[in-house]
Amino acid sequence: MSHSELSEPYAAERESSRPLVVIRRRSGTGLRRTIPRVLALLDRAIVRLLPAVPRPVVQRLSSRYIAGPNLEDALRVVRELNAQGKLATIDVLGEEVSSDDEARAIAGQYHDVLAELDAAGLDAGVSVKLTALGLELDHDLCRDNLEAVVRDAAARGRFVRIDMEDSSTTERTLQLYRLMRDEGYANVGAVLQAYMRRTLEDASGIDNVRLCKGIYVEPYSIAYRDFDEVRANYVRTLEQLVAQGAYVGIATHDEYLIEQALRVVRAAGLSHDQYEFQMLLGVRPERGDALVADGHRLRIYVPFGTHWYEYSLRRLQENPKIAGYVAGDTVRGLLGR
Ligand SMILES: Cc1cc2nc3c(=O)[nH]c(=O)nc-3n(C[C@H](O)[C@H](O)[C@H](O)COP(=O)(O)OP(=O)(O)OC[C@H]3O[C@@H](n4cnc5c(N)ncnc54)[C@H](O)[C@@H]3O)c2cc1C
Repeated sequence: MSHSELSEPYAAERESSRPLVVIRRRSGTGLRRTIPRVLALLDRAIVRLLPAVPRPVVQRLSSRYIAGPNLEDALRVVRELNAQGKLATIDVLGEEVSSDDEARAIAGQYHDVLAELDAAGLDAGVSVKLTALGLELDHDLCRDNLEAVVRDAAARGRFVRIDMEDSSTTERTLQLYRLMRDEGYANVGAVLQAYMRRTLEDASGIDNVRLCKGIYVEPYSIAYRDFDEVRANYVRTLEQLVAQGAYVGIATHDEYLIEQALRVVRAAGLSHDQYEFQMLLGVRPERGDALVADGHRLRIYVPFGTHWYEYSLRRLQENPKIAGYVAGDTVRGLLGR
């Protein structure tokens, strides 16, 4: 089995910002233009209202993004992905932990994940959130939990990706990543967010990184907010990472960025084992299939567990068709189906 996230170096429509004006027209063309604008307006309103949507509705709408409540659900999904030529990284949902015991329990679940991946012979690593391992509770507890997971994974030849959370954790997360590397663990990698103004600087010296746009709401003073600026910083950072020889997990579903990434890796003459694409479970699977068919490595982020709420809200916020889904679910609920 190849643990490709280890291979290097571990051997290792956008919505218009114009104001939305709904003009009543009788012609089909007019309607064709008006309906998408109304939906876009609805989408934005529903994204703002998502925290008020009842939890059972959020759970139903987000089920495509989450393997299920149990480890068996994640293993089943990874088995299916592996059969399709896709790699995976498993995330134990747990960022809502509020006690040391809960953080230890999440770390314990990661040990179970690693053992079961071995037992099932599946090609996957794990992704951890430091808040789930106790970052906001006790720094030493978090470090110990992280090190135990990284050590266990190393012994099994598996990779640990440290997810990046909101900006209050950026510095502490990168410090713990560097600490693990300094302690000799090569099976651990960081995540950089293209919307952060500091990212290009953080990229320097990092040799195994997942590059994503970033999902948390950050102040303008530290983060790009403009859609095109985020894209531009993504491409700049990717070019720098490739130039410095880093192994990059190109994490995006944005067609423009996928095309730019293909250009960058081709221009650098990288072979298919020197980078990988990464996508979230339930998002643009057909685009993922096409990347795999073209010979690219693709890793799918597979979350499971009972702490599904925060993750689900973030995924729904990003779904461009959220208004339609919420409306559809409401209608189905009213019809009792
Ligand atoms: C593997 C992976 C790991 C990640 N890890 C982190 C992390 O550690 N920290 C962090 O801050 N962020 C992380 N993210 C999230 C990332 O920062 C973005 O928020 C997310 O990927 C959406 O950005 P995008 O590049 O796909 O572009 P977007 O412009 O948001 O999306 C491009 C297109 O993808 C489709 N799409 C995107 N999201 C959805 C959705 N939820 N439902 C349906 N369609 C959708 C739509 O067609 C959309 O037009 C991760 C993303 C991936 C793929």
